[in-house]
Amino acid sequence: MRIIKKSKEINSVFNSIKETGFVPTLGSLHKGHEYLIKKSVKQNRVTFVSIFLNPKQFNNKKDMEKYPKKLSDDIKICKKNKVDYLFIPSFEEVYSWKTKKRSFPKIQKIMEHRYRKGHFIGVLKVIEKLIDIIPASRLYLGEKDFQQLKIIEDYFKINKIKTKIVKCKTIRNNDGLALSSRNKLLKNSDLKKAADIINFIKKVKFIKYSLAQKKKCIIQFLKNNKISFDYVEFINLKKFTTLEKQSRYMRIFIAFYISKTRLIDNI
Ligand code: AMP
Repeated sequence: MRIIKKSKEINSVFNSIKETGFVPTLGSLHKGHEYLIKKSVKQNRVTFVSIFLNPKQFNNKKDMEKYPKKLSDDIKICKKNKVDYLFIPSFEEVYSWKTKKRSFPKIQKIMEHRYRKGHFIGVLKVIEKLIDIIPASRLYLGEKDFQQLKIIEDYFKINKIKTKIVKCKTIRNNDGLALSSRNKLLKNSDLKKAADIINFIKKVKFIKYSLAQKKKCIIQFLKNNKISFDYVEFINLKKFTTLEKQSRYMRIFIAFYISKTRLIDNI
């Protein structure tokens, strides 16, 4: 595995190779990231992983300071999974890269875009650079961050970017909680509490209740357990709009806080 810090060096690799996969990350890798990496290694001749804690997508400075960082472990994980190129750029390296002028899609003011001001603009700004520095044939993104995935998909569509997006399922721990770098900030009892919420939502999803009743039931559960939350939304995954009526494309999206750590999931 080659570790590269300079954008020019990584970009020049593309003169000689085809069938490339790219897994962008914020670092502090876990089995969820590993699933994406393994998929890319299987489907491509060459796999790129980037580790870049992008300040532009953190709407809260403290959140970025607290974000778990474990570069030496990340490097080991990438080596173990046979990553070919690990890109670890500095802020200047990413943002001084000159890209073509492209348009950003219109983002619906729901969920993360409503509660984390500027977050997705920050995500698009970094993806715009990274996908130009690493113009891979396939980009691996997790459904754990479904709204982000949808926005990047829209961005690729309107700008006719040829890279194919490979959607990857959410990897969970044995209790059903989605793996997340932020889980590393939580004690075992907190992880258990978070898993209980997810399992409750899973149950409610399939009860024969109206959407309003389901939502009420989930919110009551959160209140009873003194869990603060930003939203509980029922989304039509096909259209990516808020649902009014039951649909087989329904997924329940949630952002909640456990010991001040914000977790998101969709079930
Ligand atoms: P992050 O480092 O949190 O930005 O995540 C990098 C990529 O890994 C994103 O596409 C995430 O959606 C994906 N990812 C994060 N957690 C998981 C998980 N538990 N299962 C599958 N993919 C994940």
